[in-house]
Amino acid sequence: MAKYIFIAGGVMSGIGKGIATASIGRILKSKGFNVTAMKIDPYINVDAGTMNPIEHGEVFVTDDGLECDQDMGNYERFLDENLSAINYITTGRVYQSVINKERNLHYQGKCVEVVPHIPEEVILRAEKAAEKYEADFVLVEIGGTVGEYQNMLFLEAARMMNLRKPNDVLFILVSYLPIPKIIGEMKTKPTQSATGRLNSAGIQPDIILGRSSVPLDEPRKEKISTFCNIKKENVISAPDVNSIYEIPLNFEREGLGGKILEKFSLTPQKNDLKDWKNLVEKIQDAEKEVKIGIVGKYFKTGKFTLTDSYISIIEAVKHACYFFEVKPKIKWINAEKFEKDSQNLLELDELDSIIIPGGFGVRGIEGKIEAIKYCREQKIPFLGICLGMQLSVIEFARNVCDIKEANSTEIDENCKHPVIDFVTEQKKLIEKEKYGGTMRLGAYSCKLTPDSFVKKIYNKEEISERHRHRYELNNSYIETLEKKGMKIAGINPERNLAEIVEIQDHPFFVGTQFHPEFKSRPLKPHPLFKELVKKSLE
Ligand code: GLN
Repeated sequence: MAKYIFIAGGVMSGIGKGIATASIGRILKSKGFNVTAMKIDPYINVDAGTMNPIEHGEVFVTDDGLECDQDMGNYERFLDENLSAINYITTGRVYQSVINKERNLHYQGKCVEVVPHIPEEVILRAEKAAEKYEADFVLVEIGGTVGEYQNMLFLEAARMMNLRKPNDVLFILVSYLPIPKIIGEMKTKPTQSATGRLNSAGIQPDIILGRSSVPLDEPRKEKISTFCNIKKENVISAPDVNSIYEIPLNFEREGLGGKILEKFSLTPQKNDLKDWKNLVEKIQDAEKEVKIGIVGKYFKTGKFTLTDSYISIIEAVKHACYFFEVKPKIKWINAEKFEKDSQNLLELDELDSIIIPGGFGVRGIEGKIEAIKYCREQKIPFLGICLGMQLSVIEFARNVCDIKEANSTEIDENCKHPVIDFVTEQKKLIEKEKYGGTMRLGAYSCKLTPDSFVKKIYNKEEISERHRHRYELNNSYIETLEKKGMKIAGINPERNLAEIVEIQDHPFFVGTQFHPEFKSRPLKPHPLFKELVKKSLE
């Protein structure tokens, strides 16, 4: 019988509910249990594919091709498991399936109502996930903050599930405790009021994770215990940390795993966080820095620089750095500055390597192409991901193959030399303005070319990596590119699509049509990122 742990957030968003959920997952896994994790996003969007990354952060992609919230990436990284579409719920997804069922007469003439039918659909999905993964634990993170209108139906689902299976459900509230500067004291009132709101939804938290800049002291734990009606030992400190990977260890120091098992009368099968402890030690001991530049455009919101759009890339860089026991120092570079003044390119000289990540649309394109040219000519290690790969092909075609009008049809629909062009099947959908889910999504296999660099790096014949794009390298230019030294290093065998390019006369110049960052794990860094960091160190 699976156990269900619902995790909700109090006071404000952005306090690390996703990482807390992922950390709880890691702890339970280390005790010998099968764990899966689900994310509920209260948006009407059916998936995250139609959300601008500046608004919502990175769009993560699962093996089975779902575009979802970045927290799914956190779960995969902490749990070291591949998740699938069943693990991601949005309001839109739930309503869509209830409406489809209604159309199919599934409800047999009954009035279909918001309650109970919507929460029931949520419960059904959690149970399906338990079944699919044969999970001992299903962690369900409810997005948003308690008290807001949008996630009420999901709290209702949690309440109903508890009513049906009181011995199999546990509630955790992750709440924030501010320390206002003028008062100089950690305040518990916002958490008391968040708990009150949860209570009025019929839910009493079993455990409260107190997020703050510093650990909670005894008087604070006492207060929360009294006013939130919860045992003091179930108030857990969750202070700010230098690295998110410390969090499972911090939680375990407060005995969180044991408390969860106790509630369900379970005993640990083992206690194995050794690898994780080694990782954290490496992170803490690393001194030498590697400077990696990311040339992108999705990091401006007003006066703030947000890097959430590139979270899996950041984590993949970190994993590779930890492997070599060095510290990553990432520099964010707005591609548009190279369009304004090419002198700005000299800034790239200070860096050990450059990544050009994925992206959409015209803004910043020419600046990225300038940066790629500079990396190619100055022999700076370079990894181009998806759009980054496509632009490296355009740059090479223009400046090495002398095809001056080379471009992508995404950038110039009528260009004379579309070295990057539409995936034909998607063409018709776009013409009908059917954008949602029209990309080439999810994991596809890729056969590595025998004498390529990447084959040595992966040390495999065939790999599987995740995709999210509409455009592809146009095969009619391959011969010209290869003649001049850009090698097609990997091909999708089913559709003969060029998935990897490399330049061999260069310390490291690789472009991938797929997103290797989605499959990097803290204890299993991705081979391409590992090689990039290795070459950066050289
Ligand atoms: N915009 C490009 C395409 O759709 C690249 C997408 C990406 O970088 N994820 O093909």
